[in-house]
Amino acid sequence: MRFASIGSGSAGNGLVVEKNNTRLLLDCGFGLRDSVERLTRLNISAEQLTGILITHEHEDHAGGVFKLAKKYNLPVWMTHGTHKMLERSTPNEAVRVHVIDSHIKFSIHDIEVTPFPVPHDAREPVQYTFSDGNKKLSVLTDTGCSTPHIESMLSGSHALVLECNHDLDKLMNGPYPYSLKQRVGGRLGHLDNQSAAKILNKIDTSKLQHIVAAHLSEKNNTHALAVAALSGALQCEEDWITVASQESGFHWKEI
Ligand SMILES: [Zn+2]
Ligand SMILES: [Zn+2]
Repeated sequence: MRFASIGSGSAGNGLVVEKNNTRLLLDCGFGLRDSVERLTRLNISAEQLTGILITHEHEDHAGGVFKLAKKYNLPVWMTHGTHKMLERSTPNEAVRVHVIDSHIKFSIHDIEVTPFPVPHDAREPVQYTFSDGNKKLSVLTDTGCSTPHIESMLSGSHALVLECNHDLDKLMNGPYPYSLKQRVGGRLGHLDNQSAAKILNKIDTSKLQHIVAAHLSEKNNTHALAVAALSGALQCEEDWITVASQESGFHWKEI
């Protein structure tokens, strides 16, 4: 199994997971042409995708989903709450939507997908783990805090894409208005570097081959702060930590 990102952050997200000929796009927060171009940078075309999974309705995750799905005839998986919210804003009659239960795993060809609910200010947000029956990739972004259930899902992963949205001091002393600071830093907001590091200390990381810091705020974080927090928790070299960027995500990693 391998995975890569077409971009990560509040201006758009998308991650590709591939096993054999099964290629899933996790979230689509970019416009149609942009998504296609970004996929091309990973040497794949939109026609090669099997389908799209959505975590929640926020624009940076779902803004481009129906246009891409319609153009390339791709099925889409999401929770009932996410679907309800997206239906309000975007007509999607032409797209095949599979409504998922946030606690029930399912398979899409060669990849087993396990959703899990997260505390975030959306209607019914989930994040996912992906397995080929042998290796496990876990993705956790857009969560205000951790939960025992999240930690049990992430435990034993071979690869982990983990939100490091902000540095708490930078957020609190930064340019955001007070209400936005409260939202981002709150229990239904986004994960800060230290909270991400604490998760690593609670889960089994003995099988971990790749770790990626994701969804970094461009105003309230730096690559160096995120890397320092995660490498400190894992007691590993800083250059072992990958940082996903808004512009180019990160290139293929194999597990
Ligand atoms: Zn987001
Ligand atoms: Zn969000």
